[in-house]
Amino acid sequence: MERSFKKEVQALTLGDGDTFHGEGILAVTKALLQSGVSYVGGYQGAPVSHLLDVLVDAQEIMADLGVHLETCTNEAAAAAMLGASINYPLRGAVTWKSIVGTNVAADALSNLASPGVVGGVMIILGEDYGEGASVIQERSYAYAMKSSMWLLDPRPDLPTIVRMVEEGFELSEASHAPVMMELRVRACHVTGEFKTKANRRAAVSGKNRLPGPPRFEYGKLAHPPVTFSQERLKVEERLPTAQKFIRERKLNEVIEGDLADIGIIALGGLTNGVLRALERLGLADLYGASRVPIYVLNVAFPLVPEELRAFCASKRAVLVVEEGAPDYIEQAVNTELRRSDIQTRVLGKGLLPHAGEYQSEPLINGLADFVALTQPAGIAADAILARAKAMLSHKTGALKELGDIPARPPNFCTGCPERPVFSAIKLMQRELGPTHISADIGCHSFATFAPFNLGNSILGYGMSLASAAAVGPNMERRPIAVMGDGGFWHNGLVTGVASNLFNKGDGVLIVMQNGYASATGQQYLPSSSKSRIGSAPGMTIEQTLRAFGVKWLRTVRTYSVAKMTKTLKEAMRTAERGLKVIIADGECQLARQRRVRAEDAEKLKRGERVVKTRFGVDDEICTGDHSCIRLSGCPSLTVKPNPDPLRTDPVATVIESCVGCGLCGEVAHAAVLCPSFYRADLVRNANSWDRALHRVRRAVIGWLARAPQGAAPEAEARA
Ligand code: SF4
Ligand code: SF4
Repeated sequence: MERSFKKEVQALTLGDGDTFHGEGILAVTKALLQSGVSYVGGYQGAPVSHLLDVLVDAQEIMADLGVHLETCTNEAAAAAMLGASINYPLRGAVTWKSIVGTNVAADALSNLASPGVVGGVMIILGEDYGEGASVIQERSYAYAMKSSMWLLDPRPDLPTIVRMVEEGFELSEASHAPVMMELRVRACHVTGEFKTKANRRAAVSGKNRLPGPPRFEYGKLAHPPVTFSQERLKVEERLPTAQKFIRERKLNEVIEGDLADIGIIALGGLTNGVLRALERLGLADLYGASRVPIYVLNVAFPLVPEELRAFCASKRAVLVVEEGAPDYIEQAVNTELRRSDIQTRVLGKGLLPHAGEYQSEPLINGLADFVALTQPAGIAADAILARAKAMLSHKTGALKELGDIPARPPNFCTGCPERPVFSAIKLMQRELGPTHISADIGCHSFATFAPFNLGNSILGYGMSLASAAAVGPNMERRPIAVMGDGGFWHNGLVTGVASNLFNKGDGVLIVMQNGYASATGQQYLPSSSKSRIGSAPGMTIEQTLRAFGVKWLRTVRTYSVAKMTKTLKEAMRTAERGLKVIIADGECQLARQRRVRAEDAEKLKRGERVVKTRFGVDDEICTGDHSCIRLSGCPSLTVKPNPDPLRTDPVATVIESCVGCGLCGEVAHAAVLCPSFYRADLVRNANSWDRALHRVRRAVIGWLARAPQGAAPEAEARA
C-alpha cells in the first residue's frame, strides 16, 4: 500500500479521557481497540478501505495488544475468519464493502450465523448505496434478516458510532449472534470528536493464548441435524435476547418534539439528513433539536416491538424514512402495529421515493408533503409545504439557464498503464472487427466509458472470464475477458481460469498486472513487489497460470501499443484452441507517481540527477484530426486554438499534468498517425555528459534552423 496513515495511527494510542478528532471510519478503528479485539481482518473497498489501511499501518500497536491482523484475499476469507469466535471467547472484527462484499461472504456468513458465536463478532460494512455508489444498488438489510444477524446503523456522529461498536460486541455476546454495522459514505467521512478510553488487551490473544485442547461440540457445526435446532435457537432465544438488550441499553434513541401527534421513524444513518431537511423547513434547529419527534433506529434490524409501539401509540401518523427497495422497515412497522391493533397511519414510500439515495431534495419534499398531509396541531402545515416548493423551485430555473452540460464520465488517471491496452483493443478491432468484451470490476472498467466504450457485461469482481464461458461457444469471434490482478487473486483464478481450463474452453483473457488493488487505494496483492511486512509475497501471476496448465501465455508491457495490438491479433486469430492469456504489465501510474515523487525529492535534496519526461505536440505538424485523442483518451492530451492564422482547426496539445508515459506517441506510431509528438527529457542537476550532449544538440538544431545558440540553465533534449 502506497498511501500512508502514520498520522492517523497516532490517534489509536490515545488513552483514558483524551479527545479524538477525526473521521468516522477512524473512530471505528479506535473503538475496536478499546473493545479488546483479539483479531481483525477484511478486504478493502470504498467507503471502508481506510479502516483496513489504518490497521495495517498500526501493526506495532496491534502487536503490542496481541491483536492478529489478516489482510484477506477476499470477503469470503474475511467472513470465514470469524469462525474463531464460534468456539472461543475471542472478539473479532472484519470489514468489507457491501453489498458486493457481503455477496461474496454470504456462504460463510450463513454458516457463522447458524451455530452462533461465543466471542463477540462485528462486521463493519461500507454500505455503498446511493448516487456515489460504485456498484449495485442493494442493501445489506436483506442479509441481516435472512441470516438473523443484527444490523447496526448508527447516527453519523462519533460518540454514537463508537458506542455502537463497543455495545455491539456486547450485543453479539449476549445474543450469540454476529453483529453487522453499516456505515454509508457520509458516516465514514463525518468528522467530529469523542472522549477516548485506553486500548484493551483481550483476555485471550496472541499475547495470552488459550491453553488446552480445542473445543469440540457438535452443536457448534453448521451441519445437519444440528442446524434444525440452530434455526429454532435463532428465533426463540437469540432474537428475543437481542431485542431485550437493545431496549435495556437504549441503543435506539427518541428525539422528542412538541408536534406529538405525528412522528418520524428514521434509520440511524439517515438521521442527520432528516434533521437537516427539517431545519430547512423551520422544524428543527442546527443542533439536532426537532419539533417533530424522531425514533432513531441505530439498530436497523431487529426492530424492538415494545419501543415501536410506545413511540407510535399516541400518534395519528408516522413517516418511515428508509432508502431503497423493498420497504423492509415500513412493512415491519405496519405488521407490528396492526398485530397490536394500533391504528397509527404508516407513511413512507410514495411520499418519499421508492428508489435512490435520500439526499436533501427528496427529504425536503417528502417531509413537507408528510406535514401537509397529516396537518399536525400547532403549525401552519400548508406554509411549510409552500416554503419547500419555493426553496426547490430555483433548481428548474438554474438547470434551464445552464443548458446542456456535457457528461463528464470517470476516467483512467493520467498515464494509467491500463489505458494503452484499450487503445490496442481498438486498433485490433479496426482490423478484425468488434468482439464481445467481458469487463470486470476495477479501474479497467473505466474503458466502458468514452472514448473507448469497450465492455459488454460486468458480472462481478474477478468474474469476467467466467462470464464469457457461454459467449465464446455461441459467437463467431473469440470473446476477450479483461481482469485486473486484484480480481485475479480475489477469485478470477479459480472462478475463471480453472473453470475455463477444466471445461477446455477457448477465448482470450487479459490480466492487467499493475501491482496493486489500485481502485481501492493501492493495497498490496499476492503478486505485488512488496507486502505489508516488506518483502514480496513471492506469488507471480505468470507462474501460477503455468502451474494451472495455461499454455498460450504472453507478457507484454502495456505502453507498447504496437506489440500489444500484434499480440491481441495473434490471440484472436490463432488456430490453437484453449485459453490464451495476455499479462498486460505496467505499474499503476498513481502509485508510481507517489513513489517516484518522493524518491526524486530525496535525490534533489542530495544534489543528484533527476530526469522528468514530458511529451508535446508540434503545432506545425498536427493535422487537427484528433485521432490521437480518440485513441488514447488521456486527460492531459487536449486541444488549443491553432496558432497558424491560416488554419482554423484546433491543434492537439499536451498540458502540464502529463506524466510522460509515452502512450500518445506510441498510439500515433501504432495507428500510423501524424508524426507530431515529441518527447522532452527535463534534466535537473545535469551532469557533464548531459551538458555536453545538450551543447551538441543545440549546435546541430541551430545549424539546421539557422537559429542563434544560447546557453540554457537546464539541459533539455528532444528525441
Ligand atoms: S489508480 Fe492506477 S490503475 Fe487505477 S486508473 Fe489510476 S493509474 Fe490506472
Ligand atoms: S499526454 Fe501522452 S505522455 Fe503525457 S500522460 Fe498523456 S498519454 Fe502519457
